[in-house]
Amino acid sequence: MSTLEITDLHVTVETEDGAKEILRGVTLTIESGQTHAIMGPNGSGKSTLAYSIAGHPKYTVTSGSVTLDGEDVLAMSVDERARAGLFLAMQYPVEVPGVTVSNFLRTAKTAVSGEAPKLRTWVKDVKGAMGDLRMDAAFADRNVNEGFSGGEKKRHEILQMELLEPKMAILDETDSGLDVDALRVVSEGVNRAKDRTGAGVLLITHYTRILRYVQPDFVHVFVDGRIAEQGGPELAERLEAEGYDRFQPSAVEA
Ligand code: ADP
Ligand code: MG
Ligand code: MG
Repeated sequence: MSTLEITDLHVTVETEDGAKEILRGVTLTIESGQTHAIMGPNGSGKSTLAYSIAGHPKYTVTSGSVTLDGEDVLAMSVDERARAGLFLAMQYPVEVPGVTVSNFLRTAKTAVSGEAPKLRTWVKDVKGAMGDLRMDAAFADRNVNEGFSGGEKKRHEILQMELLEPKMAILDETDSGLDVDALRVVSEGVNRAKDRTGAGVLLITHYTRILRYVQPDFVHVFVDGRIAEQGGPELAERLEAEGYDRFQPSAVEA
């Protein structure tokens, strides 16, 4: 059992006009096996939360804490976070020239688990996971993110999640830009990884549709850098029907 605990997190980002506070006190606890959905309007700070947990240098935590099983995540380097069992899909968003998907995945697995996976089982695992995600075998020989389509990037993210077997996975808009078939394949991948490893999942999304495939246990509505409301899956259905209007800052403060 693992617990990711985010307590009263405040985060600023450096802009041209100085530091701007984006997260204004986020508190959230995720246990192994749970799926938490964070939903909210554009610009509410959802990605900032993900980047802050990931340790992106652009975001400064001014107060609050993030711990994984009691260990201070914010004191860890990005690599240490991965070794501790955190998976952050946006960690490698850039093209990695000259590094194939296959080598990238093996290097990442070695870094995370502390030893190189046995080649024979590894090749089988990669092939199996790629097949499950309906990925062409040739994909393994392509350079990371080089010319990937939106859907390929998302599949590559879930492929990493399936193979790296994290304790906690943070998926930021894994559903964006996917057609219904790709969404189903990607969602099945998330569910498979969850079932197999018992990981906790933080699923950040603007739309409810992925929640039809990846069932959340808890839904948090994110507005203006804070959680404005929490509930179960029924909250997502309400958001679909009513939109975010009643959660806008003016309505929340009133
Ligand atoms: P969301 O993911 O909910 O759409 P973001 O976390 O991306 O929201 O952004 C929240 C707010 O922070 C927005 O107003 C955005 O413009 C601002 N912001 C986020 N990252 C940066 C950055 N690197 N530089 C300047 N402003 C940023
Ligand atoms: Mg956005
Ligand atoms: Mg975002």
